[in-house]
Amino acid sequence: MVTVSPVPGIRARSAPLVAADSEPDAPGAIWCPSPNHGPRRHGGAPSLIVLHYTAMARAEDALARLCDPDPPDGLGPVSAHYLIGAEGRIWQMVREADRAWHAGAGNWAGCTDVNSHSIGIELSNTGASPFAAAQMQALERLLPGIMARWAIPPAGVIGHSDMAPGRKSDPGARFDWRRLALQGLALWPETTAETTADVGDFAADLARIGYRVPESADPEALLLQSFRQRFRPFARGPLSDADRSAARALALACG
Ligand SMILES: [Zn+2]
Repeated sequence: MVTVSPVPGIRARSAPLVAADSEPDAPGAIWCPSPNHGPRRHGGAPSLIVLHYTAMARAEDALARLCDPDPPDGLGPVSAHYLIGAEGRIWQMVREADRAWHAGAGNWAGCTDVNSHSIGIELSNTGASPFAAAQMQALERLLPGIMARWAIPPAGVIGHSDMAPGRKSDPGARFDWRRLALQGLALWPETTAETTADVGDFAADLARIGYRVPESADPEALLLQSFRQRFRPFARGPLSDADRSAARALALACG
């Protein structure tokens, strides 16, 4: 286990504080602290978990990037709470109580400071290949603990693309959301005779799920693209009743 930088002064000799600072929140995670974090604004506890892919070939390169306080080429410092490698290794970089820098500009359910209200999990994946079984299993081991510690419901587990339509596309169409939903770790639209007969108002249902209209020349197209990327990855063409029915099912599940 990698330990945090020594805390100066008396705290460095305070066993309980040092122990608390050097332990990952998730059992089995490798503690690899990133300097790229701060306190959650407004003192809020996290109510969301945002899933990402790294868009990098190697987890070690992503880890270095997520811990780099001064990246080259004008890039800003970023971080996440967790990174999961393709073989299922889990690194923790920021304590869950703190604010990591993974979400950026966006909006989910009216929340525009998503970093202050979320836990960020990066999955090592370029976006062009399937997510490895060992990686999915590690994610499925990690999520229940986070959800229990912060009382985050399945509806609170979202993708980066959900909160930043048109700007972000991760974790992408290859990510198996239904698999998570079957274990109670996310939502999936199970359409019924009711949602098929009464497909509802797509825009209103998306708003109820949490989607917000992005600033764009064609925000409806971006929202449909974002919604389909997660819930109907094989759908093409204009908005259909199948989209509306799926959105209705999700909106009903959100209460
Ligand atoms: Zn992302």
